[in-house]
Amino acid sequence: MIPFHRPSITEDEVAAVADVLRSGWLTTGAKCLEFERLFAERLGAEHAISLNSATAGLHLALAAFGIGPDDEVVVPTYTFAACGEVVLYLGAKVVLADVGEDYLLGPTELAEAVTERTKAVMPVHFAGQGTSIAALRSVGEFRIIEDTAHAFPASVDGKPCGTLGDAGAFSFYATKTMTTGEGGMLVTNDGDLAEQIRRLRLHGIDSNAWARYGPGNRWAYSITEAGFKDNLTDIAAAMGIVQLGRLDEMAHKRAGIAAHYDAALRGLVGLPPRRESHSWHLYIIRVDPEQRDRIIEDLAAKGIGASVHVIPLHLHPLYKAMGYAPGQFPVAEKLYRSSISLPIWPDMTDGEVNRVIEAVLEAL
Ligand SMILES: *Cc1c(COP(=O)(O)O)cnc(C)c1O
Repeated sequence: MIPFHRPSITEDEVAAVADVLRSGWLTTGAKCLEFERLFAERLGAEHAISLNSATAGLHLALAAFGIGPDDEVVVPTYTFAACGEVVLYLGAKVVLADVGEDYLLGPTELAEAVTERTKAVMPVHFAGQGTSIAALRSVGEFRIIEDTAHAFPASVDGKPCGTLGDAGAFSFYATKTMTTGEGGMLVTNDGDLAEQIRRLRLHGIDSNAWARYGPGNRWAYSITEAGFKDNLTDIAAAMGIVQLGRLDEMAHKRAGIAAHYDAALRGLVGLPPRRESHSWHLYIIRVDPEQRDRIIEDLAAKGIGASVHVIPLHLHPLYKAMGYAPGQFPVAEKLYRSSISLPIWPDMTDGEVNRVIEAVLEAL
């Protein structure tokens, strides 16, 4: 069996988690603070706020932007469920937009979606390639929350994805380029935004549990607004610190696998347009839409887990109920119907990569 994904976990992650379990402090504490400091440092960002998911990061960023019932948020239809639902949490309107052949929301698609009610835009650095935030900014005045769940590490014009907009949300879900099982990070250079998000992630309270019970014994707290429960555990953070230290090694292995696939498959399958920087969270090939499902079944019959990323939002019942309809975003639909994601994970052996390639060639 070659699974679609297998996280890369060493004895270092195991030991780091075991240390926390033995330490007497399991929830948000010193490990989260250390993880945040290292993460901000890695990106050259002012603030990194650890959270229990990227979904929480997208939600809290929009909440901190002040998004509410009369506002519209533009979201590319070619994305995961999280992007749309967080807009709905706040009672705002999800305005879907098409994407380009590179799976990314660009200025042309954005311009078709903005209205005078557009308060925020949520570009998704899909598959691990960054879209130009500067180009999106040129379309109008709005806040930008980057969905960076796929794009760590990746950059646009030499600047890290997740630091280009007003804020960036990173995911440490089990299949992402680094993982804490579940977890996320919100990154921003805006001090006011950071302070607000720190409050919102833990019940709208003005200081976290560590500050209250840690050195100094500051027991007092005040609830300033209705917050949420989106903090990360020190168990997860300890794992995240080790994974962050291994990020470049893991990214290097992913890039090697992508190059191996490229060399064997170029000219035989469609390959998406490439930008200069790619995290290789996903390796996508494009095939004849009539053959797509059959190819995935052939791969499955050989024990190879291929997948499709993603079913565009406007094709789901939730969005159809809002008035969206098939045919509305032709590029996204074309990409969806012809895309297959092949296994790409750091510990794949050359033998395993070759088996995937052979199975794809046979299926073709
Ligand atoms: C995984 C993913 C998310 C959500 O990440 P969580 O950490 O699971 O909340 C958001 N957007 C995209 C594009 C994703 O792939």
